[in-house]
Amino acid sequence: MKNSVHTFIEQRTFTGKQAVVVGCGKSGLAAARLLDVLGATVRVVDSNADLTETILGPLKGTVELVAGPHEKRHFADADLVVFSPGVPVKKLAPVLEGLAPSTLISELEFASWFIEAPMLAVTGSNGKTTTTTLITEILEQAGHTVFTGGNIGVPLCDYVLDSEPADIIVLEVSSFQLQNCRQFKPHVGVFLNFSANHLDYHENMDEYLDAKLALFRRMTGEDTALLHESLRPVLTDRSFTNAHIQWFDGTDRFEAPYLPGKHNRSNVEAAWQAVKHFGVTETQAAKAISTFKPLAHRIEPVGEKKGVLYVNDSKATTLDAALAAVRSFDRPVRILMGGVWKGGDVTAFAKNIAGAVIHVGLYGGAREHLEPVLAESFPVTWDTTLELAVKRQAAQADAGDVILLSPATSSFDQYTGMAQRGADFKRVVGGLDD
Ligand code: ADP
Repeated sequence: MKNSVHTFIEQRTFTGKQAVVVGCGKSGLAAARLLDVLGATVRVVDSNADLTETILGPLKGTVELVAGPHEKRHFADADLVVFSPGVPVKKLAPVLEGLAPSTLISELEFASWFIEAPMLAVTGSNGKTTTTTLITEILEQAGHTVFTGGNIGVPLCDYVLDSEPADIIVLEVSSFQLQNCRQFKPHVGVFLNFSANHLDYHENMDEYLDAKLALFRRMTGEDTALLHESLRPVLTDRSFTNAHIQWFDGTDRFEAPYLPGKHNRSNVEAAWQAVKHFGVTETQAAKAISTFKPLAHRIEPVGEKKGVLYVNDSKATTLDAALAAVRSFDRPVRILMGGVWKGGDVTAFAKNIAGAVIHVGLYGGAREHLEPVLAESFPVTWDTTLELAVKRQAAQADAGDVILLSPATSSFDQYTGMAQRGADFKRVVGGLDD
């Protein structure tokens, strides 16, 4: 347990306080555990009416569970409300009415009160996990002890309670978490890119941008905001941070044989500019980058059959991510797209993939958003499932083609998540004739 937690316990800061945690996933439960250790009375609320107390694990009997639709009375007595990362806080406004904004915080904000080590945080519409993981790899190879968390891996509240103190905390941060951050202040903040995403949640692009910029709001002149060149037009006249601002763009500085595409050169440069602030040398970074392999489901080659390369980019949930994937190949691309629509400019996408894509294989949801526009420039087919769409492309493809699953949507119409969608693609490809 961290020293700062002991201080809070000694000062009895949370004794007699009522805390409400929204969301019963691993981050919510981690926050509940930390609040309980600090002496608060804890209620966990989750809109899933099927949950039972078993979900509370060791907290059963100590923490109250309210499962089912959120009601005002479950929040009315709260001194502090802590939101799990995926909770759409805006939608809870009616039940939170009357509570002071300062009492509403994200799990990330709450945990950050107890963090002593410098934090390095990465946000953006696409490339967060790749860049965060690469940064961790470089720092570790350079001899640092790193904790990596936020949107990926272990919740930050669990780190506060259980992990050995790290030299540097590396965080992948989403706009949802940033919306309820008040004191959270990384030493280095990275903003990779900004494009249509989560427009099913945010009212418009400006609000989404505002949520992202919350990352930099508390930073001071001793901190660094690393911003991608493409953000200059939207950020130049905007006052959003006191941090030292540094712009970056992709370069050919490093050999990164397993990270294809221009977008990855930009991710690599972001990682390098970020780790430099922690004393890493260019030679150390070059060595780690040269062997770094991206995680599964991110432009992941699955196999080559009859001269056709199959690539799983199930993690691409936006049109920009799909575009980055298409641009990573100098072979004709047959792209597979479909799922739950999250917004984006399909006309611009169509223009940008012209010359690279030779066929669009749609499947499942989002057909009504994609087909009318894409069919003006490409042969487009639609199938009910990914399996049928893959088989159709396989039957039509010529040696040299790439069949790329880069759906530009979220997967929840047919899958539990992007990993299951990617695994299904691999299964279908595995069953195709060699
Ligand atoms: P995130 O964690 O932000 O979802 P990932 O690192 O998991 O991002 O990458 C998801 C997908 O986004 C990749 O498979 C690739 O298609 C695309 N992508 C990665 N980096 C970038 C970037 N810098 N710009 C645009 N698209 C990117």
